[in-house]
Amino acid sequence: PADPARTRLDDLPIRDDLRGMRPYGAPQLDVAVRLNTNENSYPVPGPVVEAIGKALAAELRDLNRYPDRDAVALRADLAGYLGHGLTGEQVWAANGSNEIQQQLLQAFGGPGRVALGFTPAYSMHPLLALGTGTAWQPARRGADFGLTVDDAVTQVREHRPDVVFLCSPNNPTGTALDPEVVAAVLDVAGGMVVVDEAYAEFARPGTVSALAVLPGHPRLVVTRTMSKAFGFAGGRLGYLAADPAVVAAVQLVRLPYHLSALTQAAARAALAHRDALLGTVAAIKVQRDRIVTTLRDRGLRVADSDANFVLFEVGGDQSVAWRALLERGVLVRDVGLAGWLRVTAGTPAETDAFLAAMEEIR
Ligand code: PMP
Repeated sequence: PADPARTRLDDLPIRDDLRGMRPYGAPQLDVAVRLNTNENSYPVPGPVVEAIGKALAAELRDLNRYPDRDAVALRADLAGYLGHGLTGEQVWAANGSNEIQQQLLQAFGGPGRVALGFTPAYSMHPLLALGTGTAWQPARRGADFGLTVDDAVTQVREHRPDVVFLCSPNNPTGTALDPEVVAAVLDVAGGMVVVDEAYAEFARPGTVSALAVLPGHPRLVVTRTMSKAFGFAGGRLGYLAADPAVVAAVQLVRLPYHLSALTQAAARAALAHRDALLGTVAAIKVQRDRIVTTLRDRGLRVADSDANFVLFEVGGDQSVAWRALLERGVLVRDVGLAGWLRVTAGTPAETDAFLAAMEEIR
């Protein structure tokens, strides 16, 4: 029973727009098969653990000093990884791409301004808008969760947002965007266009990153993360690629020394071992495609996926199916989309467990 003497959140003079809210986050449950947050299921390989350990050890004596505020060496490494002729001046890094997007909204959104996203998409986008005092404008996708040039352009023209979020591959639906949509939105949007490419490394052949659209488009920002393909979610490293003027803008709102010396060193060591870390991507894509094919063979509707997760229709109340899977030791994600659930593609054994549990509950 609640302690009546204990101060409740509502007793505090909290902002009206935060009153009654609960913190965002998927349940962190101790379950054998955790396929609910699109992490990389493969642990960091031994030699990479060793290299990161050495890099961290080398920083420890100097922890009395603040880190490089501008993370210059890390940004150059990230630019080298991205390719497309990018340099460190066109890259900015922070504690996860969530923080990158928050900084973008602090700089380009804020009170009196509007951010727009095409739902269902990543549910943190509206929450970051809320936290930064930016009004949120939801826009529609097609019945198949796709986004056509016409649909995108019409809605951006109608709402004239200061910031447009595009998500490619889109979470939770999984499909990558045609870069034509990005270019068309840039043409009609007066504001910034942010393409969230958290899952870019998992895309199927033939998809094109919005990085290719960057030249000549100073209002375009592409955000990436090491949380997914690199298997570095616990390290917290996200980044953006854009015109150097965009980097100058986020530097106005970032906290000084936001990226610790340890984070910078660990991320650089991880990047230096990218072949070992990204070696899991091909195996994960095999499991992703196996989940799509198997569920379709069993007669379920499944969205196409360019990511490390799959959105599938369960028929009926998805929260009932979610619980039934959990009772069988498999944790997936209820993204609040009626009749659908999302599962992360992990190891072959995890796919086995998920598909077996699915077979049992139908
Ligand atoms: N964008 C999308 C579409 C995501 O799904 C996620 C992770 N759930 C993120 C950004 C944030 O990842 P991070 O902050 O770990 O970089």
